[in-house]
Order: sequence, then structure tokens, then C-alpha cells
Amino acid sequence: MKDVVYDKLKILAESAKYDVSCSSSGVARNNKSRGLGNTAGGMGICHSYTEDGRCVSLLKILLTNVCIFDCAYCINRRTNDIQRASFSVKELVELTIEFYRRNYIEGLFLSSGIIKNADYTMERMLRVVKDLRTLHRFNGYIHMKSIPGASQELVNQAGLYVDRMSVNLEIPTEKNLKLLAPEKDHTSVFQPMKYIQQGVLENIEDRKRIRSAPRFVPAGQSTQMIVGATNETDKDILHISSLLYKRPTMRRVYYSGFIPVNNYDTRLPSIKQAPLVRENRLYQADWLLRFYGFKAEEIANDAYPDLDLEVDPKLSWALRHPEFFPVDVNRADYGMILRVPGIGVKSARLIVMSRRHGKITATQLRKMGIVMKKAQYFIICNELPNYTIHEATPKLLRSILTEPKKKTFASGQLPIIFPV
Ligand code: SF4
Repeated sequence: MKDVVYDKLKILAESAKYDVSCSSSGVARNNKSRGLGNTAGGMGICHSYTEDGRCVSLLKILLTNVCIFDCAYCINRRTNDIQRASFSVKELVELTIEFYRRNYIEGLFLSSGIIKNADYTMERMLRVVKDLRTLHRFNGYIHMKSIPGASQELVNQAGLYVDRMSVNLEIPTEKNLKLLAPEKDHTSVFQPMKYIQQGVLENIEDRKRIRSAPRFVPAGQSTQMIVGATNETDKDILHISSLLYKRPTMRRVYYSGFIPVNNYDTRLPSIKQAPLVRENRLYQADWLLRFYGFKAEEIANDAYPDLDLEVDPKLSWALRHPEFFPVDVNRADYGMILRVPGIGVKSARLIVMSRRHGKITATQLRKMGIVMKKAQYFIICNELPNYTIHEATPKLLRSILTEPKKKTFASGQLPIIFPV
């Protein structure tokens, strides 16, 4: 690799590390004849970790960190005195191919600062993904960020070459976005989101008629919100997420704990490090929205606007709603079993399937992988002792289940011994 490209790589990979909205998921495409790579599994997959421990398995890079915008939360804002660099289209294409061949990466996550204007930048990004797919027959995963305000024509063209596209919402409410990023507005984000959605839905129809029609953003779209830079509550954030998930092509909402990189800006909160526990709780809550049948207002609402940082959101909900428990695992419907702390989607399905063949016992529950340490207080089944949330009280249960380590309970207190 030429020194000049290596120097750019160092700068532009460093500048890209704050975007968490990438994961290689949602599409399976095998290698075509004489093509290069595939989107999942096998050769070409490697993982790297950002400083705060997030897993990154793609070449995550900016086309340029030059930007005409001045977003307060961004390291690349135009008023920051940092080293700037830009790849040419050719350099970035060759770098991706070289990294793929060396088995460093499974694909590309391409983002960029805004040079000149949204369309000028988007057009260069389009050339990168188009050259990869057409000139080099690159068949690996490509996730491209669409530039806010980009035209429909460019979004439509890029969508034919990438697996996933994302447009970052960044700040959950328009008012606070205007405060921290005066040059942006939600329209410039929701418009490209709409273009992607339209393209995907039209493509589904096209492919019903012509099976060989090229696919358009087959892994759907994602977005990212920064958490903790502004005063939105978790209730506000989850409400927006639930609306976004109602859009048919929105696959993932990412939550990025605000990383204080521009401490001098008085519009930003003065914190020393990113609120990673809150970020983690939001991901857990997001999981509840997508896979556990919870509504956003059940997880966070006016009475509980922020997620409990001590216990996960599902346990927190259960402790606030003892009236729904204990759940009889031999009778309750799937949706209710899914709400039991310690029971996941896979084990809830197993319970429902297994009980067709006879009563489920505690031993079987353990074998199914249920976290009995939690679940035992929220369920009844044949031979479980009757120490449910009602006998224990939510307050005591909370203290037991937030214990960092095993604790020996004095006699008379709730035993956590479980009959095998
Ligand atoms: S537009 Fe993007 S790269 Fe430019 S300052 Fe804002 S967040 Fe940073």
C-alpha cells in the first residue's frame, strides 16, 4: 500500500469510528461465478473492536472527513482543527479490494463528510460502490450512508449496488437537532429514508414480475440516534424508534451514547465518557419492541420516562407489574410467556411446543436454557416452590436480582434454592 493511502486510511478510519450504525446482517448472497466474496460467513470475515468495545467487522471508512457542516457533536465539524484527508474514488475502491483479498474484512461501511453539497458527495460515494460491484465484481457486504439532503436519483442509483443504506437521525427531536446542527433538519433525513423505502417496495413488485431484476437495498435501511447529547428522555427515544420500526424497510435503529469530543462547545453536556449503560439499556428495550411484543409506552412512559439503569427493561417492567405474574408455563399463551424475565424467544417457543407432549417440569425448563435465577419468581409449574413475586415483593426481588454476586441469605429471607 502506498504511504499516502496508508496515511489517509489512518485519518479516515479514525474519523469514522464514531458511527455505530453498521452491522453485516440481513442479507445472504453467495459468491457468483468469478465474483469476489460473499455477504455472510466463510472466508473474508474478521472483526475489530472500537475503543469502547463495539464489534466492527467491515472496513469502516469515510470518503473524506472534510465537511462544510458544523454539527456540535461531531469530530469532523468544519471548525475543528484536525487533520483532513480525502480518498479518490480509485484509492478507496482499490483499498477495499486489497483488504478483502487479505481477508481483513467482510465488506465495506462507507460514510463521508459533506464536500461542496449533498449531491456532490453522494455522487462520489456512488462511484465507489458502483466501481466495486461492476468493475471489480465485488460481492461482499456494502453498507452505505446516504447523505442527508441527497437527491432521489442518486439514492435510487446507489441502492442498486449496496446491501444496506442508512440515514442518521442523529438527534431525536427537530428542536434539539437545530440547536446542535443548525444546517440540518429532519426533513433532509426523512426524505432519503422515504426514497429508500419507495425503492425497496417498488423493487419487490418488480421482482415479482421479473425475477432477474436487480435487487435494491436488499438488507433494508437503518438509522442512528445519539443518546445523551440533548435532553430527550428514553421515552422520547423509544417512541421515535417504534414509529421508525413501523416503516416497512427500517431494520435497525442504533443508539450511540454521546461521546464528548468537542468539550469546548457549551451547547453540549459536560460529561467525561459516553453513557454506555444507558445505550445498552436502549438496545435491550429496542429488542423488546422488535421481538417481544412490547409497546414503547409499556417500557418507558410519563411515570417512568427513563430506563432503569440497574436492571434490564424486561425485568423492570415485570417488577412494576406484579399483577401479571406468576405465569403458568403450562397454560399461558406465548405472548405472556415471552414476558417472563429469564425466558427468551427461543425458549418461549420451546415451552409452547413441548407442553403439547405433557406437563413441563422445572428440570425441563432448565434444560431449555431458561435463566431460572430470574424466571423462578415469575412462573409456576408443577414442582416449583410458591415463592413468586407476590411472596417475595418486587422490592426484595429487585435487590436480589441486582446483586452483582451470589449472596447468602439469612434464614427467614427468601430462599433462592431451586429444586432440581
Ligand atoms: S454533516 Fe456529518 S460529518 Fe459533517 S459535521 Fe455533521 S455529523 Fe459531522
